[in-house]
Amino acid sequence: MPSETVRYYSTNRRVPRATLREALLQGQAADRGLFMPETYPEMLPKQIEALAERSYPEIAHFVLERFTRGSIDEGRLRELCEDAYGFEVPIEPVAGRAHVLRLDRGPTASFKDFAARMMARWMGVFMEDDSSELVILTATSGDTGSAVAHAYHGVERVRVVVLFPIDEVSARQRKQMTTLGGNVTTIAVDGKFDDCQAMVKRAFADPDLSAIRLSSANSINIGRLLPQAVYYVYAYARLAKAAEMEPIVFSVPSGNFGDMMGAVIAGRLGVPIERLVVATNSNDEVPRFVETGVYEKIVPSRVCISNAMNVGHPSNLARLVDVYGGFMDETGRILEMPDLARLRRDIFAVGVTDEETRETIREAWRLHRLLLEPHGAVGWAGLRRFLEGRGPGPEPLSVSVETAHPAKFPEEIQALIGLDPEVPPSLRGLEGKPERFARMTTEYEPFRDLLRDTFARS
Ligand SMILES: *Cc1c(COP(=O)(O)O)cnc(C)c1O
Repeated sequence: MPSETVRYYSTNRRVPRATLREALLQGQAADRGLFMPETYPEMLPKQIEALAERSYPEIAHFVLERFTRGSIDEGRLRELCEDAYGFEVPIEPVAGRAHVLRLDRGPTASFKDFAARMMARWMGVFMEDDSSELVILTATSGDTGSAVAHAYHGVERVRVVVLFPIDEVSARQRKQMTTLGGNVTTIAVDGKFDDCQAMVKRAFADPDLSAIRLSSANSINIGRLLPQAVYYVYAYARLAKAAEMEPIVFSVPSGNFGDMMGAVIAGRLGVPIERLVVATNSNDEVPRFVETGVYEKIVPSRVCISNAMNVGHPSNLARLVDVYGGFMDETGRILEMPDLARLRRDIFAVGVTDEETRETIREAWRLHRLLLEPHGAVGWAGLRRFLEGRGPGPEPLSVSVETAHPAKFPEEIQALIGLDPEVPPSLRGLEGKPERFARMTTEYEPFRDLLRDTFARS
């Protein structure tokens, strides 16, 4: 296919455009901006219509080929998609024209599997003709670490180091990371998530570690966003009259806003999104910003039951501001306002309290026998609020995203609806496996020494 390679620019615009390989391996741009695709090779309505009967891996190949042209061989990409997405992606009809898209059937039962698995495979390809080794450092409060550790497990020339706060992750989350072994090193830190994050940040900036090639796998990496456009295209192709460009409403429960950026990218590629509902928990700095035009971080972030969304300053907001013609620097200051009127036409942002989240879990079960966990319930509540306020007229096609498996929150769900969610195969069988992890205080030097002793080449 003789088509052009997509390049990636930095939202700070002080470095040259990068190839996908450069953008992925660097993570953050050297000017501390975030990489974004410069162009979005269009998908024609007829082409989207033709995807209706295709498998998820085939749709992933169709979408991602647009961004990997010139960087990854097309046949190779097809294999990677087959290999990464060997699990179900159910779309559940709920009521009227509303649906729930379940992204919880991957190996760690969170939607983060979708992006982490593809990004790990891309990095593996990029490292093949490289003589050095890449060390992915990541701090986690639970879901990211296990998704990343699983995704990179066994990828050659890539090592993964995961830091987690010993008392803040559940036993099941811990075991998902510490039983892998191989190229995955786990470190339990006697501290909080913020301490882990601070240790990782310091390592990135440490000249004593310059002999080690460090990279990150968090959602500042564009490799974590592109694969998240795929499931929006998939849901649209499955449900909509694509040839007629039927509009769709998506609702996305959001914390760092990486998932939402996947929907924005899908829209750019040609999915006619009538409105993108972005629903947060009480960390509602973005809904407030959309409403008032004033952006204020929430420090420290508020503790809510949808704990993977407890983010007081989302790292992907700079990307959204950029898409709407504004400029936010790496500290979170808005130096140029985005086009708020256009943003409000496209995006309906809403904050959902824990009380409303719990009520939504109860009500969805009572009315529709729809089983939601706290994150998906925030999305469903946001969709409900949008549809109710939309006024008369035919109901639009809509899809709310469920980002985790209900079995990850058994106590909450048991208390609310008296049901014990069935544990999926991916979460079973961890009990007997041996765990291996190092233990550390929040002191930086021992961490640095461990990295140096383990990974630096002499
Ligand atoms: C990470 C996560 C989210 C938030 O996704 P963002 O891309 O950070 O907005 C929502 N739900 C679950 C279960 C998650 O793990």
